[in-house]
Amino acid sequence: MSLILKAVENIPLIEKGDDIAEIIFKNAPDIADKDIIVIASTIISKSLGLTFREDEIVPSAEAERIAALNGKDPRFVQAILDQSLEVFTETPFMLVRNTNGHVCINAGIDASNVGGDLLLTLPEKPDGHAAAIGKAIEQKSGKKISVIITDTNGRSFKEGQTNVAVGLYNIKPIRQWIGEKDLYGKVLEISEEAVVDEIAGAANLIMGEGGDGVPAVIVRGLDLYTDEAVSVTEMYRSKERDLIIQGLLELKNK
Ligand code: GDP
Ligand code: MN
Ligand code: MN
Ligand code: MN
Repeated sequence: MSLILKAVENIPLIEKGDDIAEIIFKNAPDIADKDIIVIASTIISKSLGLTFREDEIVPSAEAERIAALNGKDPRFVQAILDQSLEVFTETPFMLVRNTNGHVCINAGIDASNVGGDLLLTLPEKPDGHAAAIGKAIEQKSGKKISVIITDTNGRSFKEGQTNVAVGLYNIKPIRQWIGEKDLYGKVLEISEEAVVDEIAGAANLIMGEGGDGVPAVIVRGLDLYTDEAVSVTEMYRSKERDLIIQGLLELKNK
Protein backbone atom coordinates (compact mmCIF):
# COMPACT_ATOMS: atom_id res chain seq x y z
CA MET A 1 0.00 0.00 0.00
CA SER A 2 1.17 3.53 -0.63
CA LEU A 3 -0.17 6.96 0.10
CA ILE A 4 0.20 9.99 -2.14
CA LEU A 5 0.13 13.57 -0.91
CA LYS A 6 0.11 16.26 -3.56
CA ALA A 7 0.10 20.03 -3.24
CA VAL A 8 -2.55 21.88 -5.22
CA GLU A 9 -0.27 24.33 -7.03
CA ASN A 10 -0.88 27.91 -8.14
CA ILE A 11 -3.47 28.94 -5.62
CA PRO A 12 -3.51 32.76 -5.51
CA LEU A 13 -3.65 34.91 -2.38
CA ILE A 14 -7.25 34.36 -1.37
CA GLU A 15 -9.57 37.33 -0.96
CA LYS A 16 -13.08 37.80 0.32
CA GLY A 17 -15.60 36.34 -2.14
CA ASP A 18 -13.17 33.96 -3.86
CA ASP A 19 -14.68 30.62 -4.91
CA ILE A 20 -12.41 28.10 -3.13
CA ALA A 21 -14.00 25.07 -4.84
CA GLU A 22 -13.48 26.54 -8.30
CA ILE A 23 -9.89 27.59 -7.52
CA ILE A 24 -8.98 24.13 -6.20
CA PHE A 25 -10.73 22.30 -9.04
CA LYS A 26 -9.04 24.49 -11.66
CA ASN A 27 -5.62 23.64 -10.23
CA ALA A 28 -6.32 19.96 -9.56
CA PRO A 29 -8.08 18.73 -12.68
CA ASP A 30 -7.07 15.09 -12.14
CA ILE A 31 -9.13 14.66 -8.96
CA ALA A 32 -10.14 11.01 -8.52
CA ASP A 33 -12.81 9.09 -6.60
CA LYS A 34 -12.03 8.82 -2.85
CA ASP A 35 -9.46 11.60 -2.94
CA ILE A 36 -9.32 13.58 0.29
CA ILE A 37 -8.80 17.30 -0.15
CA VAL A 38 -7.19 18.93 2.86
CA ILE A 39 -7.73 22.69 3.02
CA ALA A 40 -6.17 25.15 5.48
CA SER A 41 -8.91 26.99 7.38
CA THR A 42 -6.97 30.20 6.75
CA ILE A 43 -8.11 30.35 3.12
CA ILE A 44 -11.71 29.49 3.99
CA SER A 45 -11.72 32.34 6.50
CA LYS A 46 -10.15 34.71 3.98
CA SER A 47 -12.74 33.79 1.34
CA LEU A 48 -15.49 34.45 3.90
CA GLY A 49 -13.95 37.79 4.84
CA LEU A 50 -13.53 36.77 8.49
CA THR A 51 -10.89 39.41 9.08
CA PHE A 52 -10.82 42.21 11.62
CA ARG A 53 -8.47 44.79 13.07
CA GLU A 54 -7.93 45.12 16.78
CA ASP A 55 -8.86 48.79 16.74
CA GLU A 56 -12.39 47.91 15.57
CA ILE A 57 -13.04 46.15 18.87
CA VAL A 58 -14.35 47.64 22.09
CA PRO A 59 -13.27 45.57 25.08
CA SER A 60 -15.71 44.72 27.87
CA ALA A 61 -14.87 44.90 31.57
CA GLU A 62 -14.37 41.10 31.47
CA ALA A 63 -11.84 41.46 28.63
CA GLU A 64 -10.03 44.18 30.61
CA ARG A 65 -9.93 41.91 33.65
CA ILE A 66 -8.42 38.99 31.72
CA ALA A 67 -6.00 41.26 29.83
CA ALA A 68 -4.66 42.56 33.16
CA LEU A 69 -3.84 38.94 34.04
CA ASN A 70 -2.27 37.75 30.78
CA GLY A 71 -0.77 40.99 29.47
CA LYS A 72 -2.52 40.78 26.10
CA ASP A 73 -4.34 43.65 24.42
CA PRO A 74 -7.87 43.86 25.92
CA ARG A 75 -9.29 44.19 22.39
CA PHE A 76 -7.59 40.93 21.37
CA VAL A 77 -8.97 39.30 24.52
CA GLN A 78 -12.45 40.59 23.60
CA ALA A 79 -12.13 39.08 20.12
CA ILE A 80 -11.28 35.73 21.71
CA LEU A 81 -14.25 35.99 24.10
CA ASP A 82 -16.54 36.78 21.15
CA GLN A 83 -15.45 33.51 19.52
CA SER A 84 -15.70 31.38 22.66
CA LEU A 85 -18.35 29.34 24.43
CA GLU A 86 -16.16 28.68 27.46
CA VAL A 87 -12.77 29.83 28.78
CA PHE A 88 -10.61 27.16 30.43
CA THR A 89 -7.47 29.19 31.15
CA GLU A 90 -7.02 32.97 31.28
CA THR A 91 -3.27 33.19 31.79
CA PRO A 92 -0.55 32.85 30.58
CA PHE A 93 -2.61 31.98 27.49
CA MET A 94 -6.31 31.61 26.77
CA LEU A 95 -7.44 28.06 26.16
CA VAL A 96 -11.10 28.17 25.12
CA ARG A 97 -13.88 26.18 23.53
CA ASN A 98 -14.76 28.08 20.38
CA THR A 99 -18.29 28.53 19.10
CA ASN A 100 -18.08 25.26 17.14
CA GLY A 101 -16.93 23.26 20.18
CA HIS A 102 -13.26 23.09 19.22
CA VAL A 103 -10.84 23.56 22.14
CA CYS A 104 -7.83 25.66 21.15
CA ILE A 105 -5.66 28.61 22.09
CA ASN A 106 -7.02 32.11 21.35
CA ALA A 107 -10.14 30.60 19.73
CA GLY A 108 -7.96 30.00 16.67
CA ILE A 109 -7.60 33.72 15.94
CA ASP A 110 -4.55 33.88 13.71
CA ALA A 111 -2.35 36.58 12.20
CA SER A 112 -0.04 34.31 10.18
CA ASN A 113 -0.43 34.38 6.40
CA VAL A 114 -2.90 37.26 6.57
CA GLY A 115 -2.04 40.61 5.01
CA GLY A 116 -1.66 43.97 6.74
CA ASP A 117 -2.53 44.20 10.41
CA LEU A 118 -5.55 41.96 9.94
CA LEU A 119 -6.50 39.06 12.17
CA LEU A 120 -8.50 36.05 11.06
CA THR A 121 -11.17 34.09 12.92
CA LEU A 122 -12.02 30.45 12.23
CA PRO A 123 -15.12 29.71 10.15
CA GLU A 124 -18.13 29.27 12.45
CA LYS A 125 -19.72 26.37 10.58
CA PRO A 126 -16.65 24.48 9.33
CA ASP A 127 -18.50 21.25 8.47
CA GLY A 128 -20.92 23.32 6.41
CA HIS A 129 -18.09 24.94 4.47
CA ALA A 130 -16.35 21.60 3.98
CA ALA A 131 -19.61 20.19 2.59
CA ALA A 132 -20.29 23.17 0.34
CA ILE A 133 -16.78 23.08 -1.13
CA GLY A 134 -16.81 19.28 -1.39
CA LYS A 135 -20.18 19.18 -3.14
CA ALA A 136 -19.12 21.89 -5.58
CA ILE A 137 -15.91 20.01 -6.44
CA GLU A 138 -17.91 16.78 -6.83
CA GLN A 139 -20.24 18.50 -9.23
CA LYS A 140 -17.41 19.98 -11.29
CA SER A 141 -15.32 16.79 -11.36
CA GLY A 142 -18.00 14.09 -11.33
CA LYS A 143 -15.93 12.31 -8.63
CA LYS A 144 -16.82 11.38 -5.06
CA ILE A 145 -14.41 13.08 -2.68
CA SER A 146 -13.89 13.93 0.97
CA VAL A 147 -12.79 17.25 2.48
CA ILE A 148 -10.91 18.04 5.69
CA ILE A 149 -10.59 21.67 6.78
CA THR A 150 -7.63 22.11 9.12
CA ASP A 151 -5.92 24.46 11.52
CA THR A 152 -2.58 24.29 13.28
CA ASN A 153 -2.93 23.63 17.01
CA GLY A 154 -0.71 23.08 20.01
CA ARG A 155 -1.17 19.96 22.13
CA SER A 156 -1.09 19.06 25.78
CA PHE A 157 2.05 17.32 27.05
CA LYS A 158 4.29 17.94 24.04
CA GLU A 159 6.13 20.84 22.48
CA GLY A 160 5.41 21.60 18.86
CA GLN A 161 2.17 22.08 16.96
CA THR A 162 0.43 19.86 14.45
CA ASN A 163 -2.32 20.40 11.93
CA VAL A 164 -5.72 19.08 13.04
CA ALA A 165 -9.17 18.71 11.51
CA VAL A 166 -11.70 21.45 12.27
CA GLY A 167 -14.30 20.66 9.58
CA LEU A 168 -15.28 17.54 7.60
CA TYR A 169 -17.18 16.30 4.57
CA ASN A 170 -17.61 12.65 3.50
CA ILE A 171 -15.06 11.24 5.94
CA LYS A 172 -15.62 9.83 9.43
CA PRO A 173 -13.30 11.44 11.97
CA ILE A 174 -12.48 8.24 13.81
CA ARG A 175 -11.56 4.78 12.55
CA GLN A 176 -12.91 2.17 14.95
CA TRP A 177 -10.58 -0.63 16.00
CA ILE A 178 -12.63 -1.77 18.98
CA GLY A 179 -13.57 -5.41 18.45
CA GLU A 180 -10.83 -5.95 15.84
CA LYS A 181 -8.04 -8.40 16.56
CA ASP A 182 -4.36 -7.55 16.99
CA LEU A 183 -1.48 -9.56 15.53
CA TYR A 184 -1.89 -12.24 18.17
CA GLY A 185 -5.68 -12.49 18.13
CA LYS A 186 -6.27 -10.31 21.18
CA VAL A 187 -9.44 -8.26 20.78
CA LEU A 188 -8.80 -4.51 20.86
CA GLU A 189 -10.82 -2.75 23.53
CA ILE A 190 -10.07 0.95 23.34
CA SER A 191 -8.33 1.74 20.06
CA GLU A 192 -10.01 4.49 18.08
CA GLU A 193 -7.81 6.12 15.47
CA ALA A 194 -8.30 9.85 14.87
CA VAL A 195 -7.68 9.46 11.15
CA VAL A 196 -8.68 12.98 10.14
CA ASP A 197 -6.09 14.49 12.48
CA GLU A 198 -3.46 12.08 11.13
CA ILE A 199 -4.30 13.10 7.58
CA ALA A 200 -4.28 16.78 8.57
CA GLY A 201 -0.83 16.31 10.11
CA ALA A 202 0.49 14.53 7.04
CA ALA A 203 -0.85 17.22 4.70
CA ASN A 204 0.86 19.87 6.80
CA LEU A 205 4.23 18.35 5.91
CA ILE A 206 3.57 19.91 2.49
CA MET A 207 1.65 23.01 3.59
CA GLY A 208 4.06 24.20 6.24
CA GLU A 209 3.27 27.20 8.40
CA GLY A 210 4.98 29.96 6.48
CA GLY A 211 5.18 31.35 2.99
CA ASP A 212 5.03 28.14 0.96
CA GLY A 213 1.64 29.13 -0.42
CA VAL A 214 0.19 25.62 -0.25
CA PRO A 215 -3.21 25.81 1.47
CA ALA A 216 -4.64 22.68 -0.19
CA VAL A 217 -3.28 19.15 -0.46
CA ILE A 218 -4.76 16.11 -2.17
CA VAL A 219 -4.40 12.83 -0.30
CA ARG A 220 -4.83 9.70 -2.41
CA GLY A 221 -4.68 6.02 -1.50
CA LEU A 222 -6.87 5.78 1.59
CA ASP A 223 -10.23 4.06 1.69
CA LEU A 224 -12.06 6.39 4.07
CA TYR A 225 -14.81 7.83 1.86
CA THR A 226 -18.34 7.80 3.27
CA ASP A 227 -21.50 9.41 1.97
CA GLU A 228 -23.01 9.49 5.46
CA ALA A 229 -23.44 12.82 7.20
CA VAL A 230 -20.39 13.53 9.37
CA SER A 231 -19.29 16.24 11.76
CA VAL A 232 -15.95 17.06 13.26
CA THR A 233 -17.81 17.64 16.53
CA GLU A 234 -18.20 13.83 16.84
CA MET A 235 -14.59 13.79 18.00
CA TYR A 236 -14.85 16.62 20.53
CA ARG A 237 -14.67 15.04 24.00
CA SER A 238 -17.44 16.09 26.37
CA LYS A 239 -16.47 17.97 29.51
CA GLU A 240 -17.82 15.11 31.62
CA ARG A 241 -15.28 12.76 30.05
CA ASP A 242 -12.36 15.20 29.97
CA LEU A 243 -10.23 15.08 33.12
CA ILE A 244 -7.80 17.73 31.87
CA ILE A 245 -10.56 20.24 31.21
CA GLN A 246 -12.10 19.48 34.60
CA GLY A 247 -8.72 20.06 36.26
CA LEU A 248 -8.21 23.35 34.44
CA LEU A 249 -11.65 24.57 35.49
CA GLU A 250 -10.94 23.62 39.10
CA LEU A 251 -7.72 25.63 39.00
CA LYS A 252 -9.46 28.60 37.39
CA ASN A 253 -12.26 28.62 39.95
CA LYS A 254 -9.95 28.26 42.95
P1 GDP B 1 -3.63 27.62 9.17
O1 GDP B 1 -2.95 26.42 9.74
O2 GDP B 1 -5.03 27.36 8.67
O3 GDP B 1 -3.57 28.81 10.10
O4 GDP B 1 -2.84 28.05 7.85
P2 GDP B 1 -1.31 28.54 7.77
O5 GDP B 1 -1.22 30.00 8.11
O6 GDP B 1 -0.45 27.61 8.56
O7 GDP B 1 -1.01 28.31 6.23
C1 GDP B 1 -0.99 27.00 5.67
C2 GDP B 1 -0.47 27.07 4.26
O8 GDP B 1 -1.37 27.82 3.46
C3 GDP B 1 0.89 27.72 4.11
O9 GDP B 1 1.59 27.04 3.07
C4 GDP B 1 0.54 29.15 3.67
O10 GDP B 1 1.59 29.75 2.93
C5 GDP B 1 -0.66 28.86 2.79
N1 GDP B 1 -1.58 29.99 2.59
C6 GDP B 1 -2.26 30.71 3.52
N2 GDP B 1 -3.05 31.62 2.91
C7 GDP B 1 -2.86 31.47 1.58
C8 GDP B 1 -3.38 32.11 0.41
O11 GDP B 1 -4.21 33.03 0.47
N3 GDP B 1 -2.93 31.66 -0.81
C9 GDP B 1 -2.01 30.65 -0.92
N4 GDP B 1 -1.62 30.26 -2.13
N5 GDP B 1 -1.49 30.04 0.14
C10 GDP B 1 -1.93 30.43 1.38
MN1 MN C 1 -2.03 30.82 9.97
MN1 MN D 1 -4.42 29.04 12.08
MN1 MN E 1 -0.91 26.07 9.80
